[in-house]
Amino acid sequence: MEHHVLDQMYENLGISSQVLEFASEIEEQLKPRFQEIDERAEYNQLKVIKGMQDNRVSDIHFAATTGYGYNDLGRDTLEEVYASVFHGESALVRPQLISGTHALHIALSGNLRPGDELLSPVGKPYDTLEEVIGIRDSVGSLKEYGVTYRQVDLLPDGSFDYDNIKKAINERTKLVTIQRSKGYDPRPTLSVSQIGELISFVKSIKPEVICMVDNCYGEFVETIEPTDVGADMIVGSLIKNPGGGLAPIGGYIVGQKDCVDRASYRLSAPGLGKEVGASLGLNQQLYQGLFLAPTVVAGALKGAIFAANIYERLGFAVVPDGSQSRHDIIQAITFGTPEGVIAFCKGIQAAAPVDSFVTPEPWDMPGYDSQVIMAAGAFVQGSSIELSADGPIKPPYAVYFQGGLTWYHAKLGILKSLQQLLDDGVLKSLR
Ligand SMILES: *Cc1c(COP(=O)(O)O)cnc(C)c1O
Repeated sequence: MEHHVLDQMYENLGISSQVLEFASEIEEQLKPRFQEIDERAEYNQLKVIKGMQDNRVSDIHFAATTGYGYNDLGRDTLEEVYASVFHGESALVRPQLISGTHALHIALSGNLRPGDELLSPVGKPYDTLEEVIGIRDSVGSLKEYGVTYRQVDLLPDGSFDYDNIKKAINERTKLVTIQRSKGYDPRPTLSVSQIGELISFVKSIKPEVICMVDNCYGEFVETIEPTDVGADMIVGSLIKNPGGGLAPIGGYIVGQKDCVDRASYRLSAPGLGKEVGASLGLNQQLYQGLFLAPTVVAGALKGAIFAANIYERLGFAVVPDGSQSRHDIIQAITFGTPEGVIAFCKGIQAAAPVDSFVTPEPWDMPGYDSQVIMAAGAFVQGSSIELSADGPIKPPYAVYFQGGLTWYHAKLGILKSLQQLLDDGVLKSLR
Protein backbone atom coordinates (compact mmCIF):
# COMPACT_ATOMS: atom_id res chain seq x y z
CA MET A 1 0.00 0.00 0.00
CA GLU A 2 1.28 3.43 -0.83
CA HIS A 3 2.03 5.63 2.13
CA HIS A 4 -0.18 8.49 1.07
CA VAL A 5 -3.23 6.19 1.24
CA LEU A 6 -2.53 5.57 4.92
CA ASP A 7 -1.80 9.24 5.54
CA GLN A 8 -5.06 10.15 3.84
CA MET A 9 -6.91 7.81 6.20
CA TYR A 10 -5.27 9.46 9.22
CA GLU A 11 -6.23 12.85 7.82
CA ASN A 12 -9.83 11.62 7.50
CA LEU A 13 -9.62 10.88 11.22
CA GLY A 14 -8.47 14.42 11.96
CA ILE A 15 -4.69 14.01 12.16
CA SER A 16 -2.67 16.76 10.47
CA SER A 17 0.35 16.06 8.28
CA GLN A 18 2.49 17.93 10.81
CA VAL A 19 1.55 15.47 13.59
CA LEU A 20 1.94 12.50 11.26
CA GLU A 21 5.44 13.48 10.20
CA PHE A 22 6.57 14.13 13.74
CA ALA A 23 5.19 10.80 14.96
CA SER A 24 6.41 8.68 12.08
CA GLU A 25 9.99 9.73 12.70
CA ILE A 26 9.67 8.55 16.30
CA GLU A 27 7.91 5.34 15.31
CA GLU A 28 10.75 4.56 12.91
CA GLN A 29 13.30 4.80 15.73
CA LEU A 30 11.28 2.41 17.88
CA LYS A 31 11.40 -0.50 15.44
CA PRO A 32 14.08 -2.48 17.33
CA ARG A 33 12.13 -2.20 20.59
CA PHE A 34 8.90 -3.17 18.91
CA GLN A 35 10.65 -6.24 17.58
CA GLU A 36 11.71 -7.26 21.10
CA ILE A 37 8.12 -6.87 22.22
CA ASP A 38 6.91 -9.03 19.35
CA GLU A 39 9.40 -11.75 20.26
CA ARG A 40 8.21 -11.77 23.86
CA ALA A 41 4.62 -11.93 22.64
CA GLU A 42 5.53 -14.86 20.41
CA TYR A 43 7.00 -16.71 23.39
CA ASN A 44 3.97 -15.97 25.54
CA GLN A 45 1.58 -16.96 22.75
CA LEU A 46 3.28 -20.35 22.58
CA LYS A 47 3.15 -20.63 26.37
CA VAL A 48 -0.62 -20.10 26.29
CA ILE A 49 -1.17 -22.55 23.41
CA LYS A 50 0.94 -25.17 25.21
CA GLY A 51 -1.18 -24.69 28.35
CA MET A 52 -4.35 -25.20 26.33
CA GLN A 53 -3.00 -28.26 24.51
CA ASP A 54 -1.63 -29.90 27.66
CA ASN A 55 -5.06 -29.61 29.24
CA ARG A 56 -6.83 -30.88 26.09
CA VAL A 57 -9.08 -27.84 25.71
CA SER A 58 -12.03 -28.80 23.58
CA ASP A 59 -15.32 -27.54 22.23
CA ILE A 60 -17.24 -29.07 25.14
CA HIS A 61 -15.47 -26.68 27.52
CA PHE A 62 -17.39 -23.76 26.06
CA ALA A 63 -20.76 -25.08 27.19
CA ALA A 64 -22.71 -23.05 29.74
CA THR A 65 -23.66 -24.19 33.22
CA THR A 66 -26.24 -22.61 35.48
CA GLY A 67 -27.35 -22.86 39.09
CA TYR A 68 -24.80 -24.42 41.43
CA GLY A 69 -22.48 -25.19 38.56
CA TYR A 70 -21.48 -28.66 39.76
CA ASN A 71 -19.12 -30.46 37.38
CA ASP A 72 -18.50 -27.43 35.21
CA LEU A 73 -15.83 -29.03 33.07
CA GLY A 74 -15.13 -25.83 31.14
CA ARG A 75 -14.56 -23.84 34.33
CA ASP A 76 -12.37 -26.53 35.90
CA THR A 77 -10.28 -26.93 32.74
CA LEU A 78 -9.87 -23.17 32.38
CA GLU A 79 -8.47 -23.13 35.89
CA GLU A 80 -6.05 -25.90 34.96
CA VAL A 81 -4.99 -23.90 31.91
CA TYR A 82 -4.29 -20.83 34.07
CA ALA A 83 -2.36 -23.01 36.52
CA SER A 84 -0.29 -24.43 33.62
CA VAL A 85 0.37 -21.09 31.92
CA PHE A 86 1.32 -19.30 35.15
CA HIS A 87 3.11 -22.32 36.63
CA GLY A 88 1.03 -22.71 39.79
CA GLU A 89 -0.38 -25.84 41.41
CA SER A 90 -3.94 -24.57 41.25
CA ALA A 91 -6.08 -21.65 40.11
CA LEU A 92 -9.35 -19.91 40.80
CA VAL A 93 -10.60 -18.15 37.64
CA ARG A 94 -14.16 -16.97 37.98
CA PRO A 95 -16.70 -14.48 36.69
CA GLN A 96 -17.83 -14.38 40.33
CA LEU A 97 -14.56 -12.59 41.11
CA ILE A 98 -15.95 -9.27 39.98
CA SER A 99 -12.77 -7.20 39.82
CA GLY A 100 -9.12 -7.12 40.74
CA THR A 101 -9.94 -5.62 44.11
CA HIS A 102 -12.40 -8.43 44.80
CA ALA A 103 -9.88 -11.12 43.83
CA LEU A 104 -7.27 -9.51 46.09
CA HIS A 105 -9.79 -9.28 48.91
CA ILE A 106 -10.65 -12.97 48.56
CA ALA A 107 -6.98 -13.99 48.45
CA LEU A 108 -6.20 -11.93 51.55
CA SER A 109 -9.26 -12.67 53.65
CA GLY A 110 -9.16 -16.37 52.71
CA ASN A 111 -5.60 -16.72 53.92
CA LEU A 112 -5.48 -14.45 56.97
CA ARG A 113 -6.97 -15.20 60.39
CA PRO A 114 -7.61 -13.01 63.45
CA GLY A 115 -4.32 -12.14 65.12
CA ASP A 116 -2.30 -12.46 61.90
CA GLU A 117 -0.32 -9.59 60.47
CA LEU A 118 -0.16 -8.51 56.83
CA LEU A 119 3.02 -6.83 55.58
CA SER A 120 3.52 -4.68 52.49
CA PRO A 121 7.28 -4.27 51.96
CA VAL A 122 6.77 -2.13 48.83
CA GLY A 123 4.95 0.87 50.28
CA LYS A 124 1.32 1.86 50.10
CA PRO A 125 -0.88 -0.52 48.10
CA TYR A 126 -3.35 0.41 45.38
CA ASP A 127 -6.07 2.83 46.55
CA THR A 128 -8.95 0.36 46.70
CA LEU A 129 -6.93 -1.96 48.95
CA GLU A 130 -6.69 0.68 51.65
CA GLU A 131 -10.28 -0.05 52.59
CA VAL A 132 -9.90 -3.81 52.16
CA ILE A 133 -7.01 -3.78 54.62
CA GLY A 134 -8.43 -1.05 56.86
CA ILE A 135 -5.66 1.52 56.32
CA ARG A 136 -8.66 3.79 55.85
CA ASP A 137 -11.40 2.70 58.25
CA SER A 138 -14.01 0.73 56.41
CA VAL A 139 -16.85 -1.61 57.26
CA GLY A 140 -15.78 -5.24 56.79
CA SER A 141 -12.07 -4.50 56.48
CA LEU A 142 -9.40 -7.01 57.54
CA LYS A 143 -8.73 -4.68 60.46
CA GLU A 144 -12.28 -5.24 61.75
CA TYR A 145 -11.51 -8.97 61.77
CA GLY A 146 -8.41 -8.47 63.90
CA VAL A 147 -5.79 -8.63 61.14
CA THR A 148 -3.12 -5.99 61.65
CA TYR A 149 -1.13 -4.31 58.91
CA ARG A 150 2.42 -3.12 58.63
CA GLN A 151 4.10 -1.30 55.77
CA VAL A 152 7.70 -0.65 54.80
CA ASP A 153 8.16 1.99 52.12
CA LEU A 154 10.56 1.67 49.24
CA LEU A 155 13.77 3.68 49.58
CA PRO A 156 13.87 7.01 47.70
CA ASP A 157 15.64 5.36 44.75
CA GLY A 158 12.86 2.75 44.45
CA SER A 159 14.85 -0.13 45.96
CA PHE A 160 13.80 -2.36 48.88
CA ASP A 161 14.49 -1.25 52.45
CA TYR A 162 15.84 -4.64 53.52
CA ASP A 163 16.82 -3.52 57.05
CA ASN A 164 13.36 -2.32 57.90
CA ILE A 165 11.67 -5.25 56.13
CA LYS A 166 13.68 -7.59 58.36
CA LYS A 167 12.63 -5.63 61.43
CA ALA A 168 8.98 -5.64 60.36
CA ILE A 169 8.72 -9.43 60.03
CA ASN A 170 7.60 -10.93 63.34
CA GLU A 171 5.92 -14.02 64.80
CA ARG A 172 2.52 -12.77 63.64
CA THR A 173 3.52 -12.00 60.03
CA LYS A 174 1.42 -14.39 57.98
CA LEU A 175 1.24 -12.90 54.51
CA VAL A 176 3.40 -10.51 52.53
CA THR A 177 1.70 -8.57 49.73
CA ILE A 178 3.82 -7.30 46.87
CA GLN A 179 2.31 -5.00 44.26
CA ARG A 180 4.10 -5.44 40.93
CA SER A 181 2.73 -2.41 39.13
CA LYS A 182 3.24 1.15 40.29
CA GLY A 183 -0.51 1.57 39.82
CA TYR A 184 -1.13 5.29 40.07
CA ASP A 185 1.88 6.06 42.23
CA PRO A 186 5.13 7.66 41.14
CA ARG A 187 7.31 4.72 42.23
CA PRO A 188 8.88 2.42 39.63
CA THR A 189 7.15 -0.81 38.66
CA LEU A 190 8.94 -3.92 39.94
CA SER A 191 10.43 -6.39 37.52
CA VAL A 192 9.69 -10.07 38.08
CA SER A 193 13.32 -10.68 38.99
CA GLN A 194 13.24 -7.90 41.62
CA ILE A 195 10.12 -9.51 43.05
CA GLY A 196 12.01 -12.81 43.16
CA GLU A 197 14.84 -11.23 45.16
CA LEU A 198 12.37 -9.76 47.63
CA ILE A 199 10.56 -13.08 48.07
CA SER A 200 13.86 -14.92 48.67
CA PHE A 201 14.80 -12.36 51.29
CA VAL A 202 11.44 -12.62 53.07
CA LYS A 203 11.54 -16.43 53.01
CA SER A 204 15.11 -16.46 54.32
CA ILE A 205 13.78 -14.75 57.44
CA LYS A 206 10.48 -16.60 57.73
CA PRO A 207 10.08 -19.53 55.29
CA GLU A 208 6.43 -20.23 56.08
CA VAL A 209 5.18 -16.73 55.25
CA ILE A 210 2.78 -16.58 52.27
CA CYS A 211 4.06 -14.29 49.51
CA MET A 212 1.24 -12.87 47.39
CA VAL A 213 1.79 -10.69 44.33
CA ASP A 214 -0.78 -8.21 43.03
CA ASN A 215 -0.06 -8.97 39.38
CA CYS A 216 -2.47 -6.39 37.88
CA TYR A 217 -1.23 -4.88 34.59
CA GLY A 218 1.86 -7.12 34.62
CA GLU A 219 0.71 -10.36 32.96
CA PHE A 220 2.59 -11.26 29.75
CA VAL A 221 4.75 -8.13 29.83
CA GLU A 222 7.74 -10.37 30.56
CA THR A 223 8.30 -14.04 29.71
CA ILE A 224 8.20 -15.04 33.38
CA GLU A 225 5.63 -14.28 36.05
CA PRO A 226 6.04 -13.92 39.84
CA THR A 227 5.00 -17.57 40.33
CA ASP A 228 8.24 -18.47 38.48
CA VAL A 229 10.30 -16.74 41.18
CA GLY A 230 8.70 -18.04 44.35
CA ALA A 231 5.35 -16.25 44.73
CA ASP A 232 2.81 -18.44 46.54
CA MET A 233 -0.11 -16.61 44.91
CA ILE A 234 -0.55 -14.18 42.04
CA VAL A 235 -3.78 -12.25 41.70
CA GLY A 236 -5.26 -10.13 38.93
CA SER A 237 -8.24 -8.86 36.96
CA LEU A 238 -9.63 -10.35 33.75
CA ILE A 239 -10.62 -6.94 32.41
CA LYS A 240 -6.93 -6.12 32.34
CA ASN A 241 -4.15 -8.09 30.62
CA PRO A 242 -5.10 -11.79 30.88
CA GLY A 243 -8.68 -11.35 29.64
CA GLY A 244 -7.30 -10.14 26.33
CA GLY A 245 -10.16 -7.65 25.96
CA LEU A 246 -12.73 -10.43 25.50
CA ALA A 247 -13.43 -11.33 29.13
CA PRO A 248 -16.51 -9.31 30.13
CA ILE A 249 -15.79 -9.76 33.86
CA GLY A 250 -13.62 -11.81 36.19
CA GLY A 251 -10.56 -12.22 38.30
CA TYR A 252 -7.97 -14.91 38.95
CA ILE A 253 -5.81 -16.32 41.73
CA VAL A 254 -3.04 -18.78 40.79
CA GLY A 255 -0.57 -20.46 43.11
CA GLN A 256 -0.07 -23.05 45.83
CA LYS A 257 -3.02 -25.38 46.14
CA ASP A 258 -3.66 -24.73 49.83
CA CYS A 259 -3.59 -20.94 49.31
CA VAL A 260 -5.99 -21.14 46.35
CA ASP A 261 -8.29 -23.52 48.22
CA ARG A 262 -8.49 -21.23 51.24
CA ALA A 263 -9.37 -18.34 48.90
CA SER A 264 -12.08 -20.48 47.27
CA TYR A 265 -13.72 -21.18 50.64
CA ARG A 266 -13.95 -17.46 51.11
CA LEU A 267 -15.37 -16.84 47.62
CA SER A 268 -18.13 -19.45 47.91
CA ALA A 269 -18.45 -20.99 51.38
CA PRO A 270 -16.53 -23.25 53.76
CA GLY A 271 -17.09 -26.80 52.54
CA LEU A 272 -18.01 -25.71 49.01
CA GLY A 273 -14.86 -24.02 47.69
CA LYS A 274 -14.11 -24.57 44.02
CA GLU A 275 -16.86 -27.18 43.55
CA VAL A 276 -19.55 -24.59 42.85
CA GLY A 277 -19.95 -21.47 40.72
CA ALA A 278 -21.70 -21.64 37.36
CA SER A 279 -19.78 -20.19 34.42
CA LEU A 280 -23.02 -18.93 32.81
CA GLY A 281 -21.77 -19.31 29.25
CA LEU A 282 -18.71 -17.07 29.67
CA ASN A 283 -16.08 -19.79 29.34
CA GLN A 284 -15.43 -19.37 25.64
CA GLN A 285 -14.70 -15.64 26.08
CA LEU A 286 -12.37 -16.35 28.98
CA TYR A 287 -10.44 -18.98 27.00
CA GLN A 288 -10.30 -16.92 23.85
CA GLY A 289 -9.31 -13.79 25.75
CA LEU A 290 -6.42 -15.62 27.38
CA PHE A 291 -5.42 -16.89 23.95
CA LEU A 292 -5.30 -13.32 22.59
CA ALA A 293 -3.76 -11.75 25.71
CA PRO A 294 -0.07 -11.97 24.73
CA THR A 295 -0.58 -10.04 21.47
CA VAL A 296 -3.01 -7.59 23.07
CA VAL A 297 -0.46 -6.84 25.79
CA ALA A 298 2.20 -6.36 23.10
CA GLY A 299 0.01 -3.75 21.37
CA ALA A 300 -0.59 -1.93 24.64
CA LEU A 301 3.15 -1.93 25.40
CA LYS A 302 3.98 -0.48 21.99
CA GLY A 303 1.44 2.27 22.61
CA ALA A 304 2.93 3.06 26.02
CA ILE A 305 6.46 3.25 24.60
CA PHE A 306 5.31 5.33 21.63
CA ALA A 307 3.56 7.80 23.96
CA ALA A 308 6.60 7.99 26.26
CA ASN A 309 8.88 8.84 23.36
CA ILE A 310 6.54 11.38 21.79
CA TYR A 311 5.91 13.32 24.97
CA GLU A 312 9.49 13.03 26.20
CA ARG A 313 10.64 14.58 22.93
CA LEU A 314 8.24 17.45 23.55
CA GLY A 315 9.81 18.08 26.96
CA PHE A 316 7.23 16.52 29.30
CA ALA A 317 8.21 14.25 32.20
CA VAL A 318 7.24 10.65 31.47
CA VAL A 319 7.36 7.55 33.70
CA PRO A 320 8.73 5.14 32.61
CA ASP A 321 10.95 7.20 30.32
CA GLY A 322 11.28 6.54 26.60
CA SER A 323 14.07 4.00 26.90
CA GLN A 324 13.48 2.26 30.26
CA SER A 325 12.59 -1.42 30.37
CA ARG A 326 8.90 -2.14 30.94
CA HIS A 327 7.26 -4.26 33.61
CA ASP A 328 3.64 -3.15 33.25
CA ILE A 329 1.50 -1.43 30.62
CA ILE A 330 0.93 1.90 32.41
CA GLN A 331 2.40 5.14 31.12
CA ALA A 332 2.40 8.35 33.16
CA ILE A 333 2.82 11.71 31.44
CA THR A 334 3.09 14.94 33.44
CA PHE A 335 1.64 17.92 31.62
CA GLY A 336 1.96 20.43 34.46
CA THR A 337 -1.35 22.14 33.61
CA PRO A 338 -5.03 21.15 33.83
CA GLU A 339 -5.42 22.11 30.15
CA GLY A 340 -2.78 19.56 29.17
CA VAL A 341 -4.47 16.74 31.08
CA ILE A 342 -7.89 17.64 29.67
CA ALA A 343 -6.70 17.93 26.05
CA PHE A 344 -4.87 14.60 26.28
CA CYS A 345 -7.96 12.80 27.58
CA LYS A 346 -10.17 14.44 24.93
CA GLY A 347 -7.84 13.10 22.25
CA ILE A 348 -7.89 9.55 23.64
CA GLN A 349 -11.69 9.64 23.80
CA ALA A 350 -11.96 10.92 20.23
CA ALA A 351 -9.96 7.92 19.00
CA ALA A 352 -12.28 5.33 20.59
CA PRO A 353 -14.40 2.83 18.64
CA VAL A 354 -17.21 3.36 21.19
CA ASP A 355 -18.42 6.78 22.43
CA SER A 356 -15.90 8.70 20.32
CA PHE A 357 -18.43 11.55 20.07
CA VAL A 358 -18.58 12.33 23.80
CA THR A 359 -16.32 14.90 25.44
CA PRO A 360 -14.81 13.86 28.76
CA GLU A 361 -15.05 16.45 31.54
CA PRO A 362 -13.43 16.60 34.99
CA TRP A 363 -15.86 15.51 37.73
CA ASP A 364 -15.99 14.92 41.48
CA MET A 365 -15.44 11.20 41.65
CA PRO A 366 -16.30 9.55 44.98
CA GLY A 367 -13.21 8.70 46.99
CA TYR A 368 -10.92 11.28 45.39
CA ASP A 369 -9.81 14.57 46.90
CA SER A 370 -9.77 16.42 43.58
CA GLN A 371 -11.67 16.33 40.32
CA VAL A 372 -10.74 13.52 37.94
CA ILE A 373 -11.03 13.30 34.16
CA MET A 374 -11.32 9.94 32.43
CA ALA A 375 -11.28 8.90 28.82
CA ALA A 376 -12.62 5.49 27.92
CA GLY A 377 -14.51 4.31 24.90
CA ALA A 378 -14.59 0.67 25.82
CA PHE A 379 -16.58 -2.39 24.81
CA VAL A 380 -16.40 -3.60 28.43
CA GLN A 381 -17.22 -1.06 31.14
CA GLY A 382 -14.13 -0.04 33.08
CA SER A 383 -11.85 -2.27 31.03
CA SER A 384 -8.36 -0.87 31.23
CA ILE A 385 -6.76 -3.27 28.78
CA GLU A 386 -8.78 -1.22 26.30
CA LEU A 387 -7.32 2.20 25.51
CA SER A 388 -8.04 4.47 28.45
CA ALA A 389 -6.59 7.44 30.29
CA ASP A 390 -7.33 9.28 33.48
CA GLY A 391 -5.86 12.10 35.45
CA PRO A 392 -6.63 13.91 38.69
CA ILE A 393 -6.98 17.66 38.20
CA LYS A 394 -4.29 18.57 40.73
CA PRO A 395 -0.54 19.14 40.65
CA PRO A 396 1.58 17.80 39.09
CA TYR A 397 -1.20 17.41 36.48
CA ALA A 398 -0.25 13.96 35.25
CA VAL A 399 -2.27 11.51 33.17
CA TYR A 400 -2.08 7.76 33.44
CA PHE A 401 -2.58 6.04 30.18
CA GLN A 402 -2.88 2.34 29.42
CA GLY A 403 -4.15 -0.29 27.07
CA GLY A 404 -5.23 -0.54 23.50
CA LEU A 405 -6.52 -3.85 22.17
CA THR A 406 -4.39 -3.27 19.08
CA TRP A 407 -1.25 -1.23 18.50
CA TYR A 408 -2.98 0.65 15.69
CA HIS A 409 -5.70 1.86 18.00
CA ALA A 410 -3.19 2.88 20.67
CA LYS A 411 -1.26 4.77 17.99
CA LEU A 412 -4.37 6.58 16.77
CA GLY A 413 -5.19 7.54 20.37
CA ILE A 414 -1.77 9.07 20.91
CA LEU A 415 -1.88 10.92 17.59
CA LYS A 416 -5.33 12.28 18.48
CA SER A 417 -4.07 13.40 21.88
CA LEU A 418 -1.18 15.24 20.28
CA GLN A 419 -3.50 16.84 17.73
CA GLN A 420 -5.83 17.96 20.54
CA LEU A 421 -2.96 19.54 22.49
CA LEU A 422 -2.08 21.55 19.38
CA ASP A 423 -5.69 22.43 18.52
CA ASP A 424 -6.35 23.62 22.09
CA GLY A 425 -3.20 25.73 22.07
CA VAL A 426 -1.59 23.80 24.93
CA LEU A 427 1.28 23.04 22.58
CA LYS A 428 2.44 25.82 20.28
CA SER A 429 4.56 23.66 18.00
CA LEU A 430 6.14 20.24 17.74
CA ARG A 431 9.75 21.27 18.39
C1 LIG B 1 -6.39 -2.33 38.76
C2 LIG B 1 -5.60 -2.69 39.93
C3 LIG B 1 -6.17 -3.31 41.05
C4 LIG B 1 -7.62 -3.68 41.13
O1 LIG B 1 -8.47 -2.82 40.55
P1 LIG B 1 -9.95 -3.20 40.06
O2 LIG B 1 -10.36 -1.93 39.42
O3 LIG B 1 -10.72 -3.54 41.26
O4 LIG B 1 -9.86 -4.32 39.11
C5 LIG B 1 -5.34 -3.61 42.09
N1 LIG B 1 -4.03 -3.34 42.06
C6 LIG B 1 -3.45 -2.76 41.00
C7 LIG B 1 -1.97 -2.51 41.01
C8 LIG B 1 -4.20 -2.43 39.90
O5 LIG B 1 -3.62 -1.87 38.84
